Amino acid sequence: MKDSIYVSKENYLKAILEAQAEGHQVIPAMLAHWLEVSAPAVTMALKRLRRDGLVEVDAEGIVRLTAAGRETAYRTALRHHLIERMLNEVFGMEWYEIHEEAERLEHAVSPAFEAKLKERLGEGGACPHGNAVLPVSPTQRKKRGEVRLSEAAEGGRYTVASLQERDSNLLRFLHRAGIDPGKHLRVTSQNYDQTVSIELDSGNSILGRPAAEAVWLRPE
Ligand SMILES: [Zn+2]
Repeated sequence: MKDSIYVSKENYLKAILEAQAEGHQVIPAMLAHWLEVSAPAVTMALKRLRRDGLVEVDAEGIVRLTAAGRETAYRTALRHHLIERMLNEVFGMEWYEIHEEAERLEHAVSPAFEAKLKERLGEGGACPHGNAVLPVSPTQRKKRGEVRLSEAAEGGRYTVASLQERDSNLLRFLHRAGIDPGKHLRVTSQNYDQTVSIELDSGNSILGRPAAEAVWLRPE
């Protein structure tokens, strides 16, 4: 569990915004899990965020951003996105190594540096994990024809469209399993034990459900 001191106001706001964009109703337990902090730490943080007018918590305990909270959250998400692209596109760091680095650096970006990054990289592109500034909801993805690896058709051929990037350990795990953004794969079988067997150029892999759910595919 991380020390709550290192999880800043911006981290909470960004996590709430990302969760909303993914179509979740945000509750405190979800934030504790995603940010790897204790329940009391979340309670304290939410109290401060409410006092500062950045979030609202309704009677059912659902957390929502205010307009001011949303603005700060989007700013942080944008900086995270730009830093990831800078590390990968300008400095050639691997996609599975940059998320944590960006988590640290996003808080240190000045408005002037942000403007430079935007000028150089643009705001519209995808990060090296295949994501836009804000995650796209599962409903929108399905409309685009994308499917989660955990629900992909047996025998189907797919390209890895994007990876859920909340968890750096998961990203490294996926990389070791041969799953990189843009890679081609064939789903061999969806197994009874909720694992999925896949075939890649680099060999065969079997993934458990939590990992397979974090991978979005585009049919070929
Ligand atoms: Zn990313």
